[in-house]
Amino acid sequence: MVGIVIVSHSKKLAAGVEELAQQMVQGAVRSAIAAGIDDPENPFGTDAMQIYHAIESVYSDEGVVVLMDLGSAILSAEMALEFLQEDQRDKVRLCEAPLVEGTIAAVVQAANGANIEQVLAEARGSLAAKTAQLSGFVGVTHTVPLQLSNVEVEQASKEIYLSVQNQMGLHARPAAKFVATASRFQSDITLRNVTVTSESVNAKSINQVITLGVHQGDEIAIAAAGNDATEALAALQQLVVSNFGETISQSLAANPLPETLTAANGQLWGIPASPGIAIGPVILYQPAVAEVTEHLGDNPQESWQQLQDAIATACQELQTLRHQVAEQVGEEEATIFDAHLLCLSDPAIVEAARQRIFDYTLDAVSAWKVVVARTVRSYEALKDPYLKARAADVRDVGQRVLRLLTGVASTPLDFKQPAILVATDLTPSETAHLNPRKVLGICMIAGGATSHSGILARSLGIPAVVGVDAELLGLENGTVIALDGETGQVWVQPEEAELRDLQTQRDRQRHVQQEQRTAAQQPAVTQDGRSIKVVANIGGVADAQVALDNGAEGVGLLRSEFLYFDRESLPTEEEQLEQYEAIASILSPHPLIIRTLDIGGDKPLSYLNVAPEPNPFLGWRGIRCLLDCPDILKTQLRAILRTTHKYPIKVMFPMIACLKEIRAAKEILATAQAELYRAGIPFNESMEVGMMVEVPAAVAMAEKLAAEVDFFSIGTNDLSQYVMASDRTNPKVATLADAFEPAVLRMIQQTIQAARHRGIWVGVCGELASSPLAAPILVGLGVDELSINPPAIGAVKASVGRLRIENAQAIAHEVLQLNSAEAVREYVAKNARGSTT
Ligand code: PEP
Ligand code: MG
Repeated sequence: MVGIVIVSHSKKLAAGVEELAQQMVQGAVRSAIAAGIDDPENPFGTDAMQIYHAIESVYSDEGVVVLMDLGSAILSAEMALEFLQEDQRDKVRLCEAPLVEGTIAAVVQAANGANIEQVLAEARGSLAAKTAQLSGFVGVTHTVPLQLSNVEVEQASKEIYLSVQNQMGLHARPAAKFVATASRFQSDITLRNVTVTSESVNAKSINQVITLGVHQGDEIAIAAAGNDATEALAALQQLVVSNFGETISQSLAANPLPETLTAANGQLWGIPASPGIAIGPVILYQPAVAEVTEHLGDNPQESWQQLQDAIATACQELQTLRHQVAEQVGEEEATIFDAHLLCLSDPAIVEAARQRIFDYTLDAVSAWKVVVARTVRSYEALKDPYLKARAADVRDVGQRVLRLLTGVASTPLDFKQPAILVATDLTPSETAHLNPRKVLGICMIAGGATSHSGILARSLGIPAVVGVDAELLGLENGTVIALDGETGQVWVQPEEAELRDLQTQRDRQRHVQQEQRTAAQQPAVTQDGRSIKVVANIGGVADAQVALDNGAEGVGLLRSEFLYFDRESLPTEEEQLEQYEAIASILSPHPLIIRTLDIGGDKPLSYLNVAPEPNPFLGWRGIRCLLDCPDILKTQLRAILRTTHKYPIKVMFPMIACLKEIRAAKEILATAQAELYRAGIPFNESMEVGMMVEVPAAVAMAEKLAAEVDFFSIGTNDLSQYVMASDRTNPKVATLADAFEPAVLRMIQQTIQAARHRGIWVGVCGELASSPLAAPILVGLGVDELSINPPAIGAVKASVGRLRIENAQAIAHEVLQLNSAEAVREYVAKNARGSTT
């Protein structure tokens, strides 16, 4: 039977609650109290050791539920868990239910022979009846007690309910954005996963937010109390409805791969984490772990200072690492370290460690270790494999600080010879430091495909299998193994025939990769000699080199809004100039098209404090914001113009729907030019000026608009959503916004015809251009330039290279007559020469 422990500051209170509860079940349940302290002067308090003994006295394998009153009772109970054996600790659960109601419910349920989960559930629901009876109404604005990590406040609070729609819910990156946004406001803010629990957590704590386990489709309640509560809720609402700024590809990147862990005769199977075949000698990696035994400190102030210093140094190290990863791997991968940095400022960790130093006089090392261990356990207890894998991140950050506190250096992962790394676990920081030329492959005992180490291995192009049987750790250094990061298979000392077979497969893979890389560096020319310019879509400096490495002949779309995000205020003219010059100098002599700021829709700019709109995609976005804030546009145009005398730069305006808008934008450009001219600042007076065609009205007016600009760039992402009247971010209808729909293709044809008529050139920069299957249609319709995602360049160039213009024109002509996007895809796949996938 489950045992019950009652913890209170007051012995009388605990004894009374126990008596009341036992009287309901005629003393049938094993219970114990841990209450008060041994100080006749001040008997109120709690003692971790006393709680530990109480747990021991009622312990059985069926488990123990501990109920507490408040404040330090919770800390003492958490501390008591640290004294238990590992296997016992897993069976003891602290219950957040109110002491009186919760204890009675728990005791009654335990007496019925319920298991520990049922006892906990009953205790947690014990307030429901009282709430139903006493609460007047539940509305959008009402009073709720905010349960923050260590504070309890009760004040007027506003609450909103939202549904989380991004693919992975509040996993590390969205959670980091959520916490960063909440932290900008002074109000106390809590978050509740309405779908799962009635428990609220501190919205400014990364660990509490993540461990809430919010998944796609869950309803959340965000409550804020304070002077800026309304603004805070608006900003958080904007973040949630914009799917945390996640693009579909980012969402998919976070999508867990199937977990297929089985061991079979001689060969091992793990979870495929990064594709590719690797063959080589093993190097076993043993990380330097700072081993710590708990000590009491004699100077809490000094211990606290030591901990703060170590945290500050750890933050600096992480900033440097983040910078390196952003430069070498990519901005998206670097955001992993943002979550690490947030951990280091998380009140659930830092404040808890501070309390252990001052309330229990633990030294800095012990306090930090205890708090990190508890946080790691709470992640490991989660069912969701993605969230569970976040335990590795907290452990990584925890070890970093511990190493700084104890002076234990981290083991360098520097190989003399190329080898396969076998490790129990690799932290994201360790993985980020790996040299892909030396590390042929990675085999990890721990981990899941969505661990950040797995994500980084994929970005570094190192084949990896994770979750492999621990017997691998028994191998001698130098033993030859092979792994296939696509199937998850691992061979230990493969037989000769097998080895030859694997080597052939590996060499074939390398050959195909090499071929694609080489093709990507060649111009895209059709069989009959027509050149199509293939350029890249990028978001900032870090992407420019990546674009070139992938074979881009310049940039057809710099989404300049990304230079405005992740900061507190608008970038100045000088800051922008620096960024544009940095990008242009990497690309030089290739051209760069800068699209002016395109915010709104799913890209809110938080510091402009724009009130949430009912229809953001039909609202204040793109050129509409810029014309309402001419100074923002003029500053950006001045920065762009100042880059033009050195580099081949073009500018284009987003979301143009009518002549009035393009003319107004050009007027602001003329003002910026006049100002520079008067100030004697050099710029290229004949810089090409273009516009995005992404609103159906612009297509209808394309003939007239073409007279105003030097080029059109067709944004098929927005054009599809507006033509098909389906929000591109709403999963329920987003598939309707398919650029392969004949309706959208006809709009593209109309735009190209108008441009031809007026003698201007046309590019396509929406996602359609990144599809090798769309290349025959777009080339057949007559586009001059395709601006695409860098990784797709090789395949699109290859698709163009297989075409004959006549054939492409016939395909384009035919698909415009078809009935659906599916029919179009099918037709192209069948009729374009060679493989187009
Ligand atoms: C588009 O709409 O197709 C486009 C390229 O712009 P964005 O995706 O940035 O809205
Ligand atoms: Mg667009």
